[in-house]
Order: sequence, then structure tokens, then C-alpha cells
Amino acid sequence: MTRLARLRGLLEEQSLPAVLITDMTDVAWLSGFRGSSGALLIGPAEQALVTDFRYFTQAAEQAPEWELVKMEPGERLLLKAGKTALDRGVKRLGFQADQLTYDAWEKLGEALEDAEVLAPTRGLVAGLREVKDPGEIELIRRAARLGDEVMQRGIAALREGLTERELKAELDYYMVSRGADEPAFHMIVASGPHSALPHSPITDRAFARGDMVTFDLGCRVAGYCSDLTRTVALGTPSEELQHVYRVVYEAQIASLAAIRPGVVGKDVDEVARAIIREAGFEEHFGHGLGHGVGLQIHEEPRLAVSGEKELVTGNVVTVEPGVYLPERGGVRIEDLVVVTEDGCELLSAAPKSAEVTVL
Ligand code: ZN
Ligand code: ZN
Repeated sequence: MTRLARLRGLLEEQSLPAVLITDMTDVAWLSGFRGSSGALLIGPAEQALVTDFRYFTQAAEQAPEWELVKMEPGERLLLKAGKTALDRGVKRLGFQADQLTYDAWEKLGEALEDAEVLAPTRGLVAGLREVKDPGEIELIRRAARLGDEVMQRGIAALREGLTERELKAELDYYMVSRGADEPAFHMIVASGPHSALPHSPITDRAFARGDMVTFDLGCRVAGYCSDLTRTVALGTPSEELQHVYRVVYEAQIASLAAIRPGVVGKDVDEVARAIIREAGFEEHFGHGLGHGVGLQIHEEPRLAVSGEKELVTGNVVTVEPGVYLPERGGVRIEDLVVVTEDGCELLSAAPKSAEVTVL
């Protein structure tokens, strides 16, 4: 069944005659249109893409099966979309309550001449997007392979005196020159005490002997993201950090082995958390074990204490336990997997070992 047919099925289940899709990731996933502004009007007979002058040509090329509703100069997107729905006799219109701003909601109500017509929906398309089809998995695999290459280059380039900023700039350039659309997120290159910050910003700190260095990077390829983390050491790190590395590695291997269809996200998280707790580092693992990846870098399902969903074949998730000792350093190891019928398959293939790699 096509993506649009699946969405129409959900609308029918919810007795919703039509929906307006304004989340641009959902717009791209449903229609193929990858501009920065537009909206989809979807009903039993409606399949329209509303956008402005900047995107008329691109929209016609990327979404040829969609009726193109062209905005006039000066027209507002939500007003135009609402007006289009009104003109076509839509009596009740779903909107993305978890995405639309209050201001946009007001505009839409204005255009429809009655805000009561608007019905909130949550996670309609995001829920469908959680299960990737083979074409999507292939694109994520390509993004992951490129991520492996960038990681290899980053580790090879690491040397005393070079700064986090210099190395990041070089790797961003390399990634795009090798075929990425762009980095999937701001790359993390966290050295020494900065490695104790899970999302350390890039600084001018120069790498030094004894540093733990965490690289967390992702590529976007044809819209799809990858996500990969490795932690290495520049010169032999402290015994304590070597021990932390072994614990995180063990937690990652064990939680990867726990992934299969039917297992609940929080139970996979607990596999890693139990190992880290046993080693006495529970308070230093303050984030979830993993997240879904697709057109967005953070999607459902979550492998986290709050992850209530059962995994299904076709989910793509990260597995990324970490332990962070304030001011001393931290370790995170992250891979990307696709859930298969009997377990999971690694999409990332950057080397890793049970002992920290010392450069
Ligand atoms: Zn990451
Ligand atoms: Zn991640």
C-alpha cells in the first residue's frame, strides 16, 4: 500500500474527512517534495500541495502526482491552505497539533471561517514513518557507510595540537565532498574533559595526551540520516576511563543482542542500564539508550526509560550507552541498526573493540 493510502486508512479509522500536513518532514515523506515551505491537503479525493513561487518548478518535479496549488505573491501559506479546504467543501479538517504554532492555528481557523472545524491530530504520519521500507533502509545504509568513512578519517587525523574546531571543519567538508547532502546534525568532537558532556559544543581546545575523544557524527543522504559515535584515546588514558570504556562497550554489545521484534524499547534500555548500574555508574548515564532515525535524526521509537512501544521489523534505531564522569571524561559508543525478523542488522560498520583504542 502506498504511504498516502496508509494515511487515508488512518483518517478513515478516526472518522476524519481531511487533514492538513504542515510538518515538512511529513510533507517530504508523503509527497517527495523537499522544499522548506508548503502544506499538503489530503482527503478522500484531495491530494494537493500548496506552496509558493520559489518552489513551483521543484514541487512539480518532486511531487508530480500531487495537484499543485500555487500561492500568489503576498499570500500566507496557512490562509491559502485553509481557503483551499473551504472552497472544496471540507467540513472538518485535521491539523498537526504537535507541530502547528498557535498563530498558524488562528490563521487556519480564520481561513476556514470557523475554528471549530479544526480537529487536532498527533503523530499520524510520524507513526507511519517509524517503519522503514527497503528503499529507505538502503538510503540510511548509504548514509551510515559514509559516516563510517568520516569516522575513520577523523580518528586517523587526530593529533596533539589540532583543535576540535579544526578537525570538525575538515570532517564536515569531507562528508559533503564525498556525497552527503549535509551533516545530519552538528558534529560532536569532544576532547578530554569535554568528553564528559554528552552534547559538548565545539571549542578551540587542542587535543592533548591522555584525552578521551568522542566523535558523534551523522550524514544526510537523499534526505536520510545516519548517526555514529566512537570514543578513542590519544595516549593511554587513566585506569578509571579505561574501565568506563569496557563497561560501556559491554552495555552496548548486550543491548544490541536484545533487539528483536516484540521487545519493548524500555526493556532494551534496561539491558544497558543494568550493566552500567552494576558497575556503579548509573548516575552517570543520564540519557536514553537510543532513538529512531530516518528523515529526522531523532524519531520514534525510543529505546529509553519512557519507551513503551514494541519494536517491529523495519524500525531503524541507534544503540548508544554512555558514561560521563564530570571533569574527567566520558565514553559513548553508538551504532545504527535496522530491526529484522530475528534480531537486528548493523547499518554502521566502523571498527570498535572491547578495549579503548589508544592512538
Ligand atoms: Zn549520535
Ligand atoms: Zn544518536
